[in-house]
Amino acid sequence: MRESCGIVGLALNDRESDNAALPIYYALYALQHRGQESTGITVHDGKSAGTLKGMGLVPDVFKKYNLSDLKGFVGIGHVRYSTTGDSTIENSQPLIVNFMDRTIAIAHNGNLVNSADLVAEFEAEGQVFLTSSDTEVIARLLVKELLKTDILGAVEEVMKRLVGSYSLTILVDDTLVVVRDPLGFKPLCLGELDGGYVVTSESAAIDTIGGKLIRDVRPGEVLIFKDGRYSSHHLFKTKNTAHCVFEYIYFARADSIIDGQLVYQTRIRIGERLLDEHAIDADIISPVPDSGITFAIGYSKKSGIDYIEGLMKNRYIGRTFIMPDQKMRETAVRLKLNTIRQNLEGKKVILLDDSIVRGTTSRRIVDMVRKAGAEEVHMRIGSPPIVSPCYLGIDMATREELVAAHKTVAGVEAVINADSLGYVSVEGLVEAVGIPADDLCLGCLTGVYPVEISGEECKRRQLTLNQF
Ligand code: SF4
Repeated sequence: MRESCGIVGLALNDRESDNAALPIYYALYALQHRGQESTGITVHDGKSAGTLKGMGLVPDVFKKYNLSDLKGFVGIGHVRYSTTGDSTIENSQPLIVNFMDRTIAIAHNGNLVNSADLVAEFEAEGQVFLTSSDTEVIARLLVKELLKTDILGAVEEVMKRLVGSYSLTILVDDTLVVVRDPLGFKPLCLGELDGGYVVTSESAAIDTIGGKLIRDVRPGEVLIFKDGRYSSHHLFKTKNTAHCVFEYIYFARADSIIDGQLVYQTRIRIGERLLDEHAIDADIISPVPDSGITFAIGYSKKSGIDYIEGLMKNRYIGRTFIMPDQKMRETAVRLKLNTIRQNLEGKKVILLDDSIVRGTTSRRIVDMVRKAGAEEVHMRIGSPPIVSPCYLGIDMATREELVAAHKTVAGVEAVINADSLGYVSVEGLVEAVGIPADDLCLGCLTGVYPVEISGEECKRRQLTLNQF
């Protein structure tokens, strides 16, 4: 399972400052978990824009450059996984479009579900797309509208055409524009930095660069930063939002505050809830590192069962799922985790993990723990069964690959070879997150999505133009 992207926008207080690139770099570093395929930064100095980008991790890409060559007081940055489009330099972001004598740079976190229709419209007009990323659709719509009206009017018209998830940081020449889709799928927050402003996918990145979190960007809100100030335009509102629940379970850093909730605390509550729903007698509780750690702390504190690490992670290896095929994924599990035999031998072990996608990784982990001498292995999972794919910005798996789409809990338990398996319930998860179910996207857990997707069930959140 892979998050699609992380984005940054930064507007320094002083137009004479020229070092926006460095804090953007550090903020991207703090968002590295959201995308590891490519990264890039665009800045503007009031006269022209400069961009550096490449394939790979933030430090690897930018060590090839001298960041101080990138001069500007305002800029945007991006880390990427591909959800639509290939993993190529052409699809890396910020995406740059020059038209007339203007420059647009776009960084996008999310996934449009109507991009194919929009691409077909442009192609019918004879336009040829240069990338296979849905972000180019947004860029082309924006150019079209900017030829007719001002930035705010153009963004409003673009938002009327987009269906799906999109948190955006955009440079239109030296104006920073920030957009969060009306359902607020992807997180986006606003902070203050030395009298200027920073916008990032997660608040942990604001902390990292010494900024102060102000608030979340509201779903349907557009922020325009100009001359050291910003204006807020809450263009669209919906009766309900659709925040991605997996940000709380897995994607976001535990030290981030997202839509008012500290992710760490949410994960503690999920662990406690797992105990309420699936208590079992055991000798130790061990997390599958790192994603199971906070759930395991919650489960352990409430149950009184010792939290003892039975698995040790090789921290110099990336996330398992960056490996492209099944064979490599299995190798990666072995490279990534080792057991601590002395902690497991002869013990009844509860293993805590965030989710089960295909079941193959869980099976290997359970087998490793058994091989290390555990007497019993009970798996507890901090998400409900994933029964349906994500179309909204998470690279998850196809329905065929999702083990819980085809098997009961007992069936998955057999696949992963556990003595027992317990998932947190949807109701338990929603309570732990602390946001009403109607304001969350639960599509991959329920099969009911908040926007229309061909062949899937939809509980539509009605959009309205805001009156204030
Ligand atoms: S379908 Fe699942 S992973 Fe995708 S946005 Fe909704 S909750 Fe998040």
